[in-house]
Amino acid sequence: MEIYFDNAATTQPLPEVIEAMRPYELDAYGNPSSIYAIGRKTRKIIDEARDRVSESLGVKANEITFCSSATESICTSLIGAALKIEKSKHRFVTTTIEHKAVLKAAHWLEEHLGWDITLITPEPSGHVNPQKFVDACLNDCGLASLQLVNNEIGTIQPVEEIASRLKDTDVVFHSDIVQGIGKIALKVVDAGVDILSASAHKFYGPKSIGFTYIRDGKADIAPVIVGGSQELDRRAGTENAGLIIGLATALDIVVRGQPSLEEKLKEMEAKFIDELDKSAVEYELNGSLPRVPGLMSIFFTGVESESLLLHADRAQVYISAGSACSAGAVKPSYVITAIGHEKRRGLCSIRISLGRHNTMEDIEEGAKRIIKIISKLRGST
Ligand code: PLP
Repeated sequence: MEIYFDNAATTQPLPEVIEAMRPYELDAYGNPSSIYAIGRKTRKIIDEARDRVSESLGVKANEITFCSSATESICTSLIGAALKIEKSKHRFVTTTIEHKAVLKAAHWLEEHLGWDITLITPEPSGHVNPQKFVDACLNDCGLASLQLVNNEIGTIQPVEEIASRLKDTDVVFHSDIVQGIGKIALKVVDAGVDILSASAHKFYGPKSIGFTYIRDGKADIAPVIVGGSQELDRRAGTENAGLIIGLATALDIVVRGQPSLEEKLKEMEAKFIDELDKSAVEYELNGSLPRVPGLMSIFFTGVESESLLLHADRAQVYISAGSACSAGAVKPSYVITAIGHEKRRGLCSIRISLGRHNTMEDIEEGAKRIIKIISKLRGST
């Protein structure tokens, strides 16, 4: 039996999503920018999907634009917003534990546009101190970004508190909500975040489709991908109606099902921890509560994550050594070292991320297989 414990890397699309996409993949081939009937049909589908996404998030339809991924959303939002900010405010505040898309966009702003970058180090708990973050946003800061949930250790960041404190300032506040959608209640829009980025494949939708929310008013974004005037003139390129319908369908399902999935993830995580506790295996969790349920970064002393991963793969248990984008490179996790742990711990930690397709049987069997591998690697059996 294959056991998939890497839902933070990607999720299996829901059958309802694939079903919803199928007819559009076949029929809605018209270019949505064409003015004849076949084109208008595709345009209507995209407009309806935009309405559904805006309803799911409780925002206005013209505040949503579709793009290829969260990476694209993050890079174009940060660079696009930076291009509209006056020179006296060319300082970007973010944290050392953001996804690489944010960190590399920060580096790009520094290298190509001469911005100053302030990187906030989180507390050993894995959380950013909101006062520290807000203080860093005073004076010459024009742009800031903080993830809602860390993709390696699952810690929930104080995005709402920071958003409400930055609301009446000039700072454009962006949040990468990729790992929060469907797992925790989304209150960030009400709190006043200006820009949000997300990817459908992290919430049981198709790959290569994401969205950006840009609040009407404060945040002004220069288009970075230029050409046609698609997506409200914010992102050029012909839209894919099938993928957009897939995203809208998945978002609708996960937002409505969020409270019950949160409960299920909590129960599965508790069961997994219980299985570890019942065994003789020593372990420690990286990052403290509040954490998103079902996303655990676990340190197994003396067991290198690369080796554990390979053995787990052979045993048909699929886990990750860090974020998916950096897996493969044998470097200590930069998130685990950023919260104050030594390199060794960053090399000996794995990520287990559960999802809605997992069952209690998966948890019991998966934990058993992992425990067996660890005991073997430690030479205790
Ligand atoms: N942000 C976070 C927190 C992520 O976990 C990921 C993917 O791992 C991304 C951004 C990038 O998403 P995508 O690869 O879909 O562009």
